[in-house]
Amino acid sequence: MLDKRQFYINGQWVAPSQTNDLNVINPSNEEACAVISLGSEADTNAAVAAAKAAFIPWMNTPKAERLALLEKLLEVYNSRAEDMAQAISLEMGAPIDMARQSQVGAGAFHIGNFIRAFKGFEFDRMLGSHAPNDRILMEPIGVVGMITPWNWPMNQIALKAIPAMATGCTMILKPSEIAPLSGMVFAEIVDEAGFPAGVFNMVNGDGLGVGTQLSGHADVDMISFTGSTRAGTAIQKNAADTIKRVSLELGGKGANIVFADADEKAVKRGVLHCMNNTGQSCNAPTRMLVQREVYDAAVETAAETASKITVGLSEDQGRHIGPVVSEVQYNKIQGLIEKGIEEGARLIAGGPGRPEDMNRGYFVRPTVFADVNNQMTIAREEIFGPVLSIIPFDTEEEAVQIANDTPYGLTDYIQTQDGEKANRVARQLRAGMVEMNGQGRAAGAPFGGYKQSGNGREGGVWGLEDFLEVKAVSGWAAE
Ligand code: NAD
Repeated sequence: MLDKRQFYINGQWVAPSQTNDLNVINPSNEEACAVISLGSEADTNAAVAAAKAAFIPWMNTPKAERLALLEKLLEVYNSRAEDMAQAISLEMGAPIDMARQSQVGAGAFHIGNFIRAFKGFEFDRMLGSHAPNDRILMEPIGVVGMITPWNWPMNQIALKAIPAMATGCTMILKPSEIAPLSGMVFAEIVDEAGFPAGVFNMVNGDGLGVGTQLSGHADVDMISFTGSTRAGTAIQKNAADTIKRVSLELGGKGANIVFADADEKAVKRGVLHCMNNTGQSCNAPTRMLVQREVYDAAVETAAETASKITVGLSEDQGRHIGPVVSEVQYNKIQGLIEKGIEEGARLIAGGPGRPEDMNRGYFVRPTVFADVNNQMTIAREEIFGPVLSIIPFDTEEEAVQIANDTPYGLTDYIQTQDGEKANRVARQLRAGMVEMNGQGRAAGAPFGGYKQSGNGREGGVWGLEDFLEVKAVSGWAAE
């Protein structure tokens, strides 16, 4: 079993101030694979003090120096790719090939994109030609507390730590206590890249401990959070007394609108997308809205597609899906599958319990329900497992109404070969992102949601701006 009980504070690996061990569970076999420490207030305070002390010197580091460090970080990240893939696969159950390609790849993708956005970013700007002596200075917000989830661990950490480093912020990362190992590899990478002590600090802990200490801390200027809407609400409330900025990336219940004139691969693509990462993606297209003319055919294709998805151990190579992350998630998903059956949805693939021949590990059967209506629990709650709900509709207006009838607003999807209709519907969806006909968002596009999906925008130029204050200066002397 790996011993990972240290924290990374002020450029050193240090022992926790008091013993509070937590086992990390391998979801493929339900056995402990590592032990970490849950930090206490003294650890949080030490990390915040280090970040505070490092802030002004780091903020004043020339842009070229910060850029060189980020480029070095990318180089070290790539050289540690296999360690990172093994850590992610072990801690949260991503099949190893998927961990290598998508999970680790996402981190490298974001680091590269931020380097590009940072190179072109203007930190000093003229207000406008009408006011030549007014200057706008974009400055780092200060000390940032970063609280991340377990489902795409490196994607999330890169989306926060890299822009914070680039803009001149200092930080304390608290990775998910369920999947902390990748965050610890990331701390080793930062250390090897040679960032000054205190710029990046990492303390493990849970939400009620280190998470709450960070969100309420007077010396933390911003919390950047990704996780559940429940925790986002708690963080926002706890941060209120210190008026810190709170940037939230929360859950989703994405609609995938399949019009009768969709391309022939649309349904299969939608099912596979929903099941990717074992359904544990906030932007998963979990509600497939299908126009009545093609509904029966879509149901058949969806059932066939889901039944062909294989489920397997995270350490095995191949294109199967792995377990869900934990017993808590397993039980929650099982409860929601039962609820779908109880509320009258038609089960067309998968169902309760583990896949055949599996008697341990948090494995869930790829499950599809047809004849779902948007008021059923499975259409309203984020399931965060391999479970798809298919909902019929008749008209474009009805599709938009159903898609928007959710407290969330993260990513919606449109499938139609009628470009005018696609663009028209995209404008009406109350979501931070709309992806059409299987085309993913390009490098540098912002990621974030409307409504209860959050308020931040991560990635590219928007991701840098999230960590900046705006200073307006008048009477600026001509240079
Ligand atoms: P979670 O909210 O339980 O935990 C996320 C993180 O928050 C963990 O580090 C946890 O320790 C911490 N935390 C929990 N309660 C806290 C509190 N009261 N104060 C401070 N910190 C607290 O979520 P999870 O189960 O790890 O992740 C799954 C959720 O994350 C899903 O709802 C998913 O949709 C969401 N998510 C959103 C995005 C996005 O960008 N919108 C991306 C990935 C995941």
